[in-house]
Amino acid sequence: MRSLAAAARRIVVKVGSSLVTNEGRGLDLAAIGEWARQIAELKVQDREVVLVSSGAIAEGMQRLGWTRRPSAVHEQQAAAAVGQMGLIQGYESSFAQFGLHTAQILLTHDDMADRKRYLNARTTLRTLLGLNVIPVINENDTVVTEEIKVGDNDTLGALVASLIEADVLIILTDQAGLYTGDPRRDPAATFVQHAKAGDPALEAMAGGAGSDLGKGGMLTKILAAKRAARGGVSTIIASGREPSVLLRLAAGEVIGTHLQADPLSLAARKQWLADHVQVRGTLTLDDGAARVIRRDGKSLLPIGVVACHGEFERGAVVTCLSVDGKEIARGLVNYSAQETQRILRKPSSEIEAILGYVEEPELIHRDNLVLL
Ligand code: GLU
Repeated sequence: MRSLAAAARRIVVKVGSSLVTNEGRGLDLAAIGEWARQIAELKVQDREVVLVSSGAIAEGMQRLGWTRRPSAVHEQQAAAAVGQMGLIQGYESSFAQFGLHTAQILLTHDDMADRKRYLNARTTLRTLLGLNVIPVINENDTVVTEEIKVGDNDTLGALVASLIEADVLIILTDQAGLYTGDPRRDPAATFVQHAKAGDPALEAMAGGAGSDLGKGGMLTKILAAKRAARGGVSTIIASGREPSVLLRLAAGEVIGTHLQADPLSLAARKQWLADHVQVRGTLTLDDGAARVIRRDGKSLLPIGVVACHGEFERGAVVTCLSVDGKEIARGLVNYSAQETQRILRKPSSEIEAILGYVEEPELIHRDNLVLL
């Protein structure tokens, strides 16, 4: 078997608090420098990498001289705000040594649940990747309340991986991966090298492993892998202390636990889009546009749209009709109904002149378009 990262072009790497902060003793700049070196090398291999980094609260506590994690939420939030500065400083200066810029992105659960914000986050991340920048993501701990929290960065990593349609999510932690039981207590426990993400048996193993270090224990990672798999993304859980772990995984070596996603999941995601979302409006396409989206799997551009009906916002699901009124596709639209009215039949190069800004050249990106 080869590593699930071997053929991956777009990779989300999540690093946990204990690795980033040297078990809470303060920012581990040597470790951060090592990941930066490896990620810079992955970029040379023409791969795109997004980092999800924990450690804001742990580093904030260190900077504030707090030895115990505060139970008051506002104190945790304050610590996160202080510590996030350190994280970003550490990443920016480490990547700068390899000629790479970083970008700070702080997300909340709402940013993923709201379709408009979901599309905005997605577009910004894609733009940053196109600019060769390394996005460094964390939860926006300072503003989240219990109800709108993702809660742990394993889950956040899975959400981000689905958001940008990554090929693989690599969760780096302070453990080697998943065991069938707790190796400290059960001599028969064996290491799980490869399994199907979402297999319920894994949850029982992770629960039994008693690995409850930090916010995301092994169970959280298994559940994150299950969530990532729903977006078609496979997950690797591996030790961040393993030398050159990212490069070796990318070279095909199997390190840690590989949890494979069903390749049909992406199609399933589109099916969900087709079946379950309320349609807010309709676009009528000319024959040329109908043909290229159907035959060549292309995005829908404003120039191919002859009419627009309904009231909708950016991020709504709209249906695409052929000139003779047959439904041919559905998708998440990048412009509101009002904006669409103004740019339809126009080349994308004119969007900026007409609206005064441009969100995307496509009206519906092909990744967000389901053919019916
Ligand atoms: N967002 C939190 C932090 O940066 C970490 C959440 C987690 O441990 O998963 O401190």
